[in-house]
Amino acid sequence: MAEILDGKQLARTIRTELKEKVAELKSSGITPGLALLLVGDNPASQVYVRSKAKACAEVGIFSIVEKRPAETTQEEVLELIARWNADPRIHGILVQLPLPAHIDEQAVLLAIDPRKDVDGFHPENMGRLVEGLPGFVPCTPAGIIEILRRYNISTVGKHAVVLGRSNIVGKPIANLLYQKSAYANATVTICHTATQDLAQYTRSADILIVAAGRPQLITGDYVREGVVVIDVGINRIEDPSAPKGYRLVGDVDFDSVAPKAAAITPVPGGVGPMTIAMLLTNTLRAATGEAFSVRQFD
Ligand code: NAD
Repeated sequence: MAEILDGKQLARTIRTELKEKVAELKSSGITPGLALLLVGDNPASQVYVRSKAKACAEVGIFSIVEKRPAETTQEEVLELIARWNADPRIHGILVQLPLPAHIDEQAVLLAIDPRKDVDGFHPENMGRLVEGLPGFVPCTPAGIIEILRRYNISTVGKHAVVLGRSNIVGKPIANLLYQKSAYANATVTICHTATQDLAQYTRSADILIVAAGRPQLITGDYVREGVVVIDVGINRIEDPSAPKGYRLVGDVDFDSVAPKAAAITPVPGGVGPMTIAMLLTNTLRAATGEAFSVRQFD
């Protein structure tokens, strides 16, 4: 049976480490600050923003949560971002996505000062990531590398197969994994909806990263013995026996894949908790100025 890559426990360890580092920075007169913007009343977004602010408080990061109604205009959002860009107490800015349809998401992300872009979604940070320059790495991909790193799973020379090409997971993790660094240096294949004979690729993976948003898409038939599986997916499926009437599953069918895998992340409790831990890490890196001078995974 596979080793379980326990993201929940790892995230706890990282938060404890961050608490000490934040205290150290505070004693030198700098309190890291994160500004969070939530527009509208999407229930999932409300939960995410609340847990991000709570996580900040736990490690001693100062945070501002600005909640605006769904009818807020794009100009108002841009004004707020301009104010935070200029505010020296704010080191990181996070706009919770998705934004209401009348607001141009790209225009908003472009307005964030790349040096405060702790989500790493600004094209400048994506460009830095591709070029192997210091910058902000998006939180979920950073969490994946951190899991591999802390569990001593070597990626060097391995075949990493990434399933998914989104800007927030698939593209950045694929671009991280081929970088010339001790925590990457893999040969990378990217699969997506137009990929033919998906199993041909997934079966040749030493490391399989699945971010497709399709519940239990990857079953035991898709993997070979000894694979390391990182399941990014978070999907709700109906389950009348569960208290809430649903349960969370990944993009990987854990029961058929785990017996063949060397290691696997569970859902929940795998990649999910690492995402917030890396947001805190990025905010600290913004406050120290390290984000643009030291590569996160070298
Ligand atoms: P997305 O829908 O933007 O992208 C999914 C990608 O998967 C697409 O690029 C598509 O080409 C590919 N894909 C979909 N079905 C496929 C198939 N049958 N075969 C091959 N490729 C296929 O999703 P996303 O934002 O990248 O998120 C992916 C999953 O990860 C979702 O379940 C999401 O909820 C989850 N997620 C989790 C975290 C976390 O913190 N753990 C963070 C972000 C996203």
